[in-house]
Amino acid sequence: MCGIVGYVGNKKASPILHENLKRLEYRGYDSCGIATIDATVMVKKGAGMIDDVHKRLNLTSLPGSIGIGHTRWATHGMVTDENAHPHLDCEGKIAVVHNGIISNHIELREKLLKNGHIFKSDTDTECLSHLIEEKYSGNLEEAVRKALKEVKGTYAIIAISQHEPNKMVCAKNESPLIIGLGDNEIFVGSDIASFLNHTKRAIILDDGECATITRDRLRIYKIASGTPIKKESFKISWSISDAEKEGYSHFMLKEIMEQPRTIVSALNVYPDEINKLAEMIKEADRVLIAAAGTSLHAAMVSEYWFSQLCDKFVVAMDSSELVNKGVIDGKTLVIGITQSGETYDTLAAMRYAKRKGAKTAAIVNVIGSTATRIADHVILQGSGIEISVCATKTFTSQLVVLLRTAIALGRTLGKDTANLEEELNNLPVIVKQVLDKKEAIKNIADEYFTKKNYIYIGKGINLPSALEGALKLKEITYFHAEGMSGGMLKHGTISLIDDEFLTVAIAPLRSDNRAKIKSNIQEVKARGGKVVCIAVGRPITICDANITTSACSEALSPILVAPVYQLLAFYTAVKFGRNVDKPRALAKSVTVE
Ligand code: GLU
Repeated sequence: MCGIVGYVGNKKASPILHENLKRLEYRGYDSCGIATIDATVMVKKGAGMIDDVHKRLNLTSLPGSIGIGHTRWATHGMVTDENAHPHLDCEGKIAVVHNGIISNHIELREKLLKNGHIFKSDTDTECLSHLIEEKYSGNLEEAVRKALKEVKGTYAIIAISQHEPNKMVCAKNESPLIIGLGDNEIFVGSDIASFLNHTKRAIILDDGECATITRDRLRIYKIASGTPIKKESFKISWSISDAEKEGYSHFMLKEIMEQPRTIVSALNVYPDEINKLAEMIKEADRVLIAAAGTSLHAAMVSEYWFSQLCDKFVVAMDSSELVNKGVIDGKTLVIGITQSGETYDTLAAMRYAKRKGAKTAAIVNVIGSTATRIADHVILQGSGIEISVCATKTFTSQLVVLLRTAIALGRTLGKDTANLEEELNNLPVIVKQVLDKKEAIKNIADEYFTKKNYIYIGKGINLPSALEGALKLKEITYFHAEGMSGGMLKHGTISLIDDEFLTVAIAPLRSDNRAKIKSNIQEVKARGGKVVCIAVGRPITICDANITTSACSEALSPILVAPVYQLLAFYTAVKFGRNVDKPRALAKSVTVE
């Protein structure tokens, strides 16, 4: 779950690698390192975030106009200087960075140790540098190909060697790898954003492919056979300003505030794309949505939309459990929702569904990501780059895409969706009104979010809002929070309520669910608990505090309340001095199992 970068050109490589790595830090940030070649391979690496390691080691002082870099999220081996990438062969002449997991690393290591190789780290990755050394007989690409034939697992790797000092060789299987084509310089990165400030022309490597790169030449071929492959480059439409903070203190705040604009982008996704997904749902006997984390909460909201607007029973499933529980056959549709398009569990669920003969679709943010290449039909939600680990704007865009799909399906079934459509088109305006209240939301965070334990309650379509509100708070404040239906509270959890617990209630306007949530609030108050209410349309006066949004229908309310609980979590995390954009132990795209 790390980020890897490579550069070959006529500029000094280390400052470029350092800058591009910084853009990948969201993928993992427990250690980092850079290797360059200037006659010999030189490496600087260590445990810690990139800024800390750079302060200690001055990463950009490495000379040479070719190099590779890595920011790590450890899977095998502790977070130590030795385990940081790049990893070298015995002679220190070959350097490798790797994203993924080598599943047969124990057998490979044993074999290599027997052959006299000396290991310096506990990582699975180090067997790659020694295996390439073992296979090397004058041609790096041959050595990489031969080595990879013995390797099982997932990888995106880049290798350089001082034997051939102008060449990078990269390869991929299930971890992402993108090549950026500049003028007399070529970049490699785990995502497009990593090199977007240098070039907007890119080629995506597919599984089982290898590339040999010099500054003015790129050759792509199959790892297994060596057969050359012709691939078209494409122009990246994202803007580099997406990857800058633009005056905001944090990416998370910037991304929350961008929502009126990103919702417009989601509203602008071509109707044909939406209609096609609606048609696939209509034709399927069974529809499962596979997703994880925040995307799963978006999927759970859509369960209500599909049932209420289309009478269609759609099931949102934790993608890591789909293989255990999902009943899948040729009449099943599995929709993967993954912001990055690289979430391991969701990709695994989609691949499993395909093997079972199901149709697949995906709602994805990152162009060219693996999910977009697996699914039979893909909807790109168009939110632009999301840097903060904590997903915000991509969540509301997923919701807009899903609601549009439910409306499209409902329409074909003869349902009257006109009012909801009109409301949906006005959504950017009312979301902006919510964001304009950010100072008031901050004040409530300052006054009430002082506890270590939180319960978020919602009802109906806002039950997933309660789960997502709690998740936001947990992720970035490290406080304990649980989300549940208001109805569930009395079946156990209410015994926790005292003045050390804060309850956050999500109340829609005008519905039975508002009355029910009001009763739940009363139950909490009766036990001495404090309640902050996110109230749609009008406040619930028995609460200790209210954040009141504009009025909207219950169906739309999960999108409108999201910026409120996002801001509450944000301001609480800032108040407690947390590393908001890069919370401990998390990475943005979870590309490992
Ligand atoms: N398995 C490798 C390690 O633990 C790479 C992990 C990653 O992809 O972040 O070093």
